[in-house]
Amino acid sequence: MSSAHVLVVGGGFGGLDVAVAVRRRRPDTPVTLVNPSAHLTYRPWLIYLPAGERQPADLRVPLAGLSRFGITLLVDSVTTLDPQGTTRLASGEHVSFTHAVVATGAHSDPGLFPGSADHAFFPCDTAEATRFTEAFRRLEKGQVTVVIAGERPGPGLEYAGWLVRALEREAGRRAIGVRVVDAEGRLAAVLGPRALSRVADHFTSRGHEFVTGATVLKIGPDGIRLAGGQILGSDLTAVVGPLRGHDLGLPPEALDDRGFVRVDRNLRSPLHPTLFAVGDAAAVPEGRTLPKSMIMARSQAKTVADNVLRSLEGVDPKPFDFDKARRSVVAMPDFGGRTVFVKNQKLIMSGRLPLVLRSLIDKSFFRTHDYGTEEGS
Ligand SMILES: Cc1cc2nc3c(=O)[nH]c(=O)nc-3n(C[C@H](O)[C@H](O)[C@H](O)COP(=O)(O)OP(=O)(O)OC[C@H]3O[C@@H](n4cnc5c(N)ncnc54)[C@H](O)[C@@H]3O)c2cc1C
Repeated sequence: MSSAHVLVVGGGFGGLDVAVAVRRRRPDTPVTLVNPSAHLTYRPWLIYLPAGERQPADLRVPLAGLSRFGITLLVDSVTTLDPQGTTRLASGEHVSFTHAVVATGAHSDPGLFPGSADHAFFPCDTAEATRFTEAFRRLEKGQVTVVIAGERPGPGLEYAGWLVRALEREAGRRAIGVRVVDAEGRLAAVLGPRALSRVADHFTSRGHEFVTGATVLKIGPDGIRLAGGQILGSDLTAVVGPLRGHDLGLPPEALDDRGFVRVDRNLRSPLHPTLFAVGDAAAVPEGRTLPKSMIMARSQAKTVADNVLRSLEGVDPKPFDFDKARRSVVAMPDFGGRTVFVKNQKLIMSGRLPLVLRSLIDKSFFRTHDYGTEEGS
C-alpha cells in the first residue's frame, strides 16, 4: 500500500478540480480537502447579491458529495502548513501529507488605501459581500462609490453596474447616485479605450458618475480624497480589486511580498518540490503574469493535478503553458445585464450576447460539480 497522501488546502475552483482529478486518476491515493465551509462559494455571482439577482444560497456548491470519490473533506482551516509534511488545523487537529496543494485563493487587501479598513466594504470577500448588500439596501439617499483598484478590476465594474440596475428597478431610490472610481486606470488598462468609453457611457447616460485614472489617497467616513486635493463625497464606499494571500504560516521564503505562494513554471514551489499552488493563491514566475480568475484557476488545476501525480510516480513535472493561457485571456464583465467582450484591450462585441457565453461557463461548472449533498445522493 502506498504511503502517499495528498492534502489540498482550500475547496474553491482550483482545489476542487485538483482533488477530483488526482483521486479519479489514482483512486488508491488518499486525498484530504480542507475548507472552512462545507461548500464552495461561486464567487463570480457575488456581484448579483446587492440587486437580489441571486441569493447567497444560490452561490453555494455543496462539497459533501465529494465522498463518492473517496475524498476526505475536513471542514476546518489550516493555520500552519509545514511543507515538510504536517499541517495544523484551527480545530487543533494535525494532518500529515506527502504532497500539499495550496488552493486558498486570495482575500481583499485593506492596506492599499489608508482609511479603507475602517470606512469601506470589500465585497469580494464572501462575508463582506453580504454586509455590503445590507448596507446598500439600508441606504435611502446619497452616493455609493465603488473604487476599482489592484489586480482584479472586473468585479468592481460588475458590482457598480448591478447597483445601478437595482436602483433603476426601485422608483423610490432614484436619489441614490453610483460613482465608479477607476483608480490609476486599472480598469482602463484591461478594457482599452473603446470598451472603456462604452462602459463610461453606460453610467453617465443613466445619471451616474465614472471617473478614471484618479489617484486615491485616503478613504474617510464620508468621502474619498484624491491626489490634487479633490474630495468625492461618499455615503457608502466599496473597494474592489487589491488582493493578498491567506496566511497559512508557510515559511516567508516560500511567499512573495503579498503572501502568495511562489511557484515555478510547473506550478510547484521552487523550494519545496512536493508543495504546489493553484489559482489565486499562486505567485507565478516573474514576467508570466496571469489574471487571477476562475478560468485560470481551473486551467492551472489540470497542470497541478498532473504534476502531483507525476511526482507520486517519480516522473519529471510538466510545465504549465503560460503562453497559451495568456492567449486565452478575455474580459467579459457583466455590469448590470450588459457586457463588453474584450481581448487584448480590443472591443470584440458588446450588448447582451456575451452574457450567453458567461452563462454557458456557469452551467458547465455547475454540471461538472454537481455531486449531490452526500454519498450516493
Ligand atoms: C466578485 C467576484 C467576481 C468574479 N468574477 C469572475 C468571473 O466572472 N470569471 C472568472 O473567471 N473569475 C471571476 N472571479 C475570480 C474568481 O472567483 C477567482 O479567481 C477564483 O475564485 C479563484 O479560485 P481559487 O480556487 O484560487 O480560490 P477560491 O475560489 O477563492 O477558493 C479558495 C478556498 O480556500 C479556502 N481557504 C482560505 N483560507 C483557507 C485556510 N486557511 N484553510 C483552508 N481553506 C482555506 C476559502 O475559504 C475558499 O473556499 C471573480 C471574483 C470575485 C470576488
